[in-house]
Amino acid sequence: MSVPGPPVTAGGVLEAARNATGFMPDGEGLALGRLAGLVASLDAEGGGGVIVEVGAYCGRSTLYLAHGVLAAGAGCRSAPIVFSIDHHHGSEENQAGWEHHDASLVDGRTGRLDTLPAWRATVEGAGVEDRVVAMVGDSPTIARLWRSPAGLVFIDGGHGAEPAWADYYGWAPKVALGGWLAIHDVFPDPADGGRPPYELYLRALECGAFVEEGDLGRGSLRVLRRVAPGV
Ligand code: SAH
Ligand code: MG
Repeated sequence: MSVPGPPVTAGGVLEAARNATGFMPDGEGLALGRLAGLVASLDAEGGGGVIVEVGAYCGRSTLYLAHGVLAAGAGCRSAPIVFSIDHHHGSEENQAGWEHHDASLVDGRTGRLDTLPAWRATVEGAGVEDRVVAMVGDSPTIARLWRSPAGLVFIDGGHGAEPAWADYYGWAPKVALGGWLAIHDVFPDPADGGRPPYELYLRALECGAFVEEGDLGRGSLRVLRRVAPGV
């Protein structure tokens, strides 16, 4: 679906990403976008058309991914699509009383967090609805029925042990041989943040199926490439 208005430029999408609500620092978002751009170079069997984002929130990282796709080949028909997953009711850490709660995102009708309207406004406002598909639901449930090999899986969903491992075992197997698994909020030092994303990263390396591509990562964004089957 094309969006009326001025032509969508990579620069415009980047500016929109920077202005969007969310938890993706600019440098890490740019690294994520560069990685998304590389997915365009994979063939279909290698997950070339498919980017999966787990944890969309208000669309900030979604736009960094879309920016990377556009920057790598704006307007190209074979450019990957970003499948952006979130139930949009927030992680534990987004709920009232927790560190990352934003009361302006609570739906007055239900009293629950609802980030879907903000996500939609972010993606629509940037003019990238033809590059991005929202998948609204529980990430492991979607993973169970997902069959397409992915060129890039970006894991940034719930950071508690249970949701993080469910995302890992649900989505890491979908990364095609030669494709990438990116994990956000990987903090080797516990003083910097929670353990589960770091433990997922260690598991991916220990299982022998992934190797780290350190030059593609940045800060807490760690990038691994699949070199063998398995998780
Ligand atoms: N990538 C975002 C931040 C994601 S925050 C950014 O750049 O700003 C983590 C998100 O994961 C929350 O929006 C939460 O709703 C979502 N989430 C947590 N558990 C989930 C689950 N089981 N299924 C789908 N989404 C989930
Ligand atoms: Mg994050």
